[in-house]
Amino acid sequence: MARKIQAIRGMNDILPGQSSVWQYLESTVADVVKSYGYQQIRFPIVENTDLFKRGVGETTDIVEKEMYTFEDRNGESLTLRPEGTASCVRAADQAGLLFNQVQRLWYTGPMFRYERPQKGRYRQFHQIGVEAFGMASADVDAELIVLSARLWKKLGLLEHVELQLNTIGLASEREAYKAALVDYLTEFKDQLDEDSQRRLTTNPLRILDSKDEATQAVLNNAPSLRDFIGEESQAHFERLQAILTANGVPFVINHRLVRGLDYYGKTVFEWVTAHLGAQATVCAGGRYDGLVEQLGGKATPAVGFAMGIERLVLLLETLELIPEEAKASTDVFVVSLGEDAEITSSVLAETLRSELAGVTVLRHCGGGNFKNQMKKANNSGARLTLILGQEEVEQGICQVKDMQTGDQESCQIADIANCVNAKLQLN
Ligand code: ATP
Ligand code: MG
Repeated sequence: MARKIQAIRGMNDILPGQSSVWQYLESTVADVVKSYGYQQIRFPIVENTDLFKRGVGETTDIVEKEMYTFEDRNGESLTLRPEGTASCVRAADQAGLLFNQVQRLWYTGPMFRYERPQKGRYRQFHQIGVEAFGMASADVDAELIVLSARLWKKLGLLEHVELQLNTIGLASEREAYKAALVDYLTEFKDQLDEDSQRRLTTNPLRILDSKDEATQAVLNNAPSLRDFIGEESQAHFERLQAILTANGVPFVINHRLVRGLDYYGKTVFEWVTAHLGAQATVCAGGRYDGLVEQLGGKATPAVGFAMGIERLVLLLETLELIPEEAKASTDVFVVSLGEDAEITSSVLAETLRSELAGVTVLRHCGGGNFKNQMKKANNSGARLTLILGQEEVEQGICQVKDMQTGDQESCQIADIANCVNAKLQLN
């Protein structure tokens, strides 16, 4: 036998048993974003490497060590998208959608990052992103957060996630803070973890994010970003909090919350959970007023977030929050004996699919004896089994067996949709 080829490490197949959960999550998101007037945008999985270098930032973890970058056959450097925001801006701007306009967009699909695979962290993972362009006020930051809270509520997750909020101010405020932070941390350089030592010169704000205990201890006496936030940023932050409070969305202010990507300013937020270990963030975002211009467009205020589908699916599974209706199930199983019955049963199954929307009808294909077919009907978990033999065909009837009670009754084939419908409604 030929050697089997395995999937690439950190890139998962989503198997039939799981895909119904994915569909449930995706369709719930689609309903919620639609109710806020967001429209879907789809863009390619591969982009010019420069888009992410410029968009995400040269000194971010993503660009420094996580991108899947390769040369095209003509020597051009391309990258599998590690996130969606830069591509979304590229696509929307290229189509002229951002010029003096308001846009509310969302997208979904695979993202690629070369990280160490573990629970909740993969090399191909999936995000749903929501982005709003052309609106500078805290209104829209709040809209996105309230939207996400509505989604958690619909999914039954609201009580299992916590909203952390911060403002990282304007670029000039961050620069002043960075200088003060670097001054302070340089003194304790030896006590910082290796990554943080490197970040001292590349991306000092990310040190605040360090999970290392010694580093966090040093940070306890570091200057606080809070003291560098100017009036405009502070007013924006307070307005956001007021709208969230009015909408009954609780939050925790985390002054050390910064985001891993360069493009954020003012609002940043994360929804975190205590149920997934170290991979605690299920949704993260913020305001990025500078990005469109940084990518060559006209300056356009923007705010957005992305959620990790794998982590949300894990959370729904861990908390057993997947509703029965969302799981794949068979309602009606059809067995037949003999050539005439086989043909009649195929027509009958089609009739049911045409007339009973949302009902799943599974037909046994390929003949075989009655006992075997009934075994399959049993294993299918169907609520009803329709049984057709030569005799039934001649009489224009069909046996309908209730798989829970074992009761069996005959129905007129001409009336089969009504008959099945009535029995499905009963149990
Ligand atoms: P983390 O701190 O967990 O590495 P991040 O800051 O890199 O997250 P973002 O770039 O903000 O994450 O992506 C938004 C969301 O996408 C995350 O909150 C998470 O739910 C999900 N996500 C990010 N990276 C991965 C990954 N490698 N595997 C699975 N999900 C991921
Ligand atoms: Mg990361």
